[in-house]
Amino acid sequence: MPQRTLSIIKPDAVGKGFAGAILAEINKAGFRIVAIRKQSISKREAEGFYAVHHERPFFDSLTTFMSSGPLILMVLEKDNAIADLRRLMGATNPANAEEGTIRKKFASSIQENAIHGSDAEETAAFETGYWFAGYELIQG
Ligand code: ATP
Ligand code: MG
Repeated sequence: MPQRTLSIIKPDAVGKGFAGAILAEINKAGFRIVAIRKQSISKREAEGFYAVHHERPFFDSLTTFMSSGPLILMVLEKDNAIADLRRLMGATNPANAEEGTIRKKFASSIQENAIHGSDAEETAAFETGYWFAGYELIQG
């Protein structure tokens, strides 16, 4: 059974014109795009998405950054999608990201790190439902 994950091309990468190159990496790695939408999000929407991080010292800065410009929301599908996307993304801090990963190629800092990917099945379900309605996720 293929698995789905929620991914975001973050405002830093969209703003620098890297969205197409990141989508190409995702495509090359064998993911199918189930749903995709470019939009801007409000600070409140970012706070709801990152609610699990609300006690972290970077919460205010992170949610300001995520609401600073357009981003691209995606639901991606393949076998082992959650773990495979995390591997393709690389470490949270691009300074520690492996060669060939999206963050190594396109991220600029631990905060402005180009891409998000869900970290578990439960978070993938929450994050997908946060941004997409059921009718948008019908298998094409
Ligand atoms: P993501 O959840 O975006 O896929 P992640 O799981 O690798 O990334 P988390 O620990 O969940 O990292 O942190 C969520 C996001 O918060 C990071 O992607 C990054 O944008 C930001 N962040 C994490 N740690 C820091 C930090 N120390 N300083 C500033 N921003 C941070
Ligand atoms: Mg995370």
